Amino acid sequence: MKLGLNLLFVALLLVGCKKSSIVNADYNEAFIASSMGGDLTAKGMTVKKAKNIIFLIGDGMGLSQVTAAAIKNNNQLHIKQFKVIGIHNPQPEAGLITDSAAGATAFATGVKTFNGAIGVAADSTSRETILEECEKLGMATGMVATSTIVHATPASFIAHRPSRKQYEDIAADFMNTEIDYFVGGGKKYFDRRSKDERNLIEELKKKEYVVSDYFQQDFEKLEIDAKKNFAYFTADDDPIPFSKGRDYLLSASTTAMDFLKVHEDPKDEKGFFLMIEGSQIDWGGHANDADYVISELLEFDEVVGKALQFAREDGETLVLVTADHETGGLAINSGSTPDSLVTSFSSGYHTADLIPVYAYGPGAELFSGFYENTAIYNKMRMAMGLNVKK
Ligand code: MG
Ligand code: ZN
Repeated sequence: MKLGLNLLFVALLLVGCKKSSIVNADYNEAFIASSMGGDLTAKGMTVKKAKNIIFLIGDGMGLSQVTAAAIKNNNQLHIKQFKVIGIHNPQPEAGLITDSAAGATAFATGVKTFNGAIGVAADSTSRETILEECEKLGMATGMVATSTIVHATPASFIAHRPSRKQYEDIAADFMNTEIDYFVGGGKKYFDRRSKDERNLIEELKKKEYVVSDYFQQDFEKLEIDAKKNFAYFTADDDPIPFSKGRDYLLSASTTAMDFLKVHEDPKDEKGFFLMIEGSQIDWGGHANDADYVISELLEFDEVVGKALQFAREDGETLVLVTADHETGGLAINSGSTPDSLVTSFSSGYHTADLIPVYAYGPGAELFSGFYENTAIYNKMRMAMGLNVKK
């Protein structure tokens, strides 16, 4: 009798497993098929390709940072709208704790590498980034950051250097890719270089970019021609914090979405890849300054809101929000009230914490579950219908 029940139980388990594997098979099949072009329905499951990707990286934005910002903002965050949430492991190729270079290189190229590495694998060989590949495929590409545009996170999507500190070399790498739109600091690495006489701003202009900067023209007052490539420098070096008056992230990001949608593509056919970084959430963590973290995160969250709005209206845009790692080991401690947080930091550097991934739009379901940071690269490829790389 007991044996009979056990057998029945095993049989039910098998039925259960079989059922779930059928669902997965359909799902994978649908994505493999969709990689050959177009939308499709596989056994009742509609899988739509993501034409556009807006990839938002909150540097250093662990769950405690999101918690603190939510509490400070009456529990209202655009990030809370996401229904599909996953977890990634930010560990680099060696050791437990990643820096932003290895972290962004994992997202951009799908390989685990060493800390400091910009768009190169653990053996220092260059890896084509997803932004470079999208550009080659005729898609429009863009980046917006609140650091210099040659800082580790944006650099890892466009440059190939063994050290994140090679700022002038990273700036030179911008000349090798026809990125259509970028906004960030670091003008001096382009036009007042110590290692050579090149003026990369002149070179950009020769490549028919419209180039401007905060010395010449307030970003808000610019009239941007969506037919030409566009570069805007927000500072000579690092942009100032949001709390000190920096205010371009929202406008430059919103403009980027509208610009890339029609850039050289009035019929809106090819799609775009846009990376937006809230760079200084991390710097607040390094400074063990909770107010700095929170103000940067709330600004970044406004951009998340705009991206979600764009994606809802557009219907073909995958929005991803994640962080490269947590910074500072932030804790919200006993004695905290909604009006007054008692916070502490356990580190002046990054921690090994697992990191949430928030996804919305076509292909979002791919991002639920638990995976390595490098998997985000192939999940984006799958969502766009590109072949999966090892
Ligand atoms: Mg960064
Ligand atoms: Zn950092």
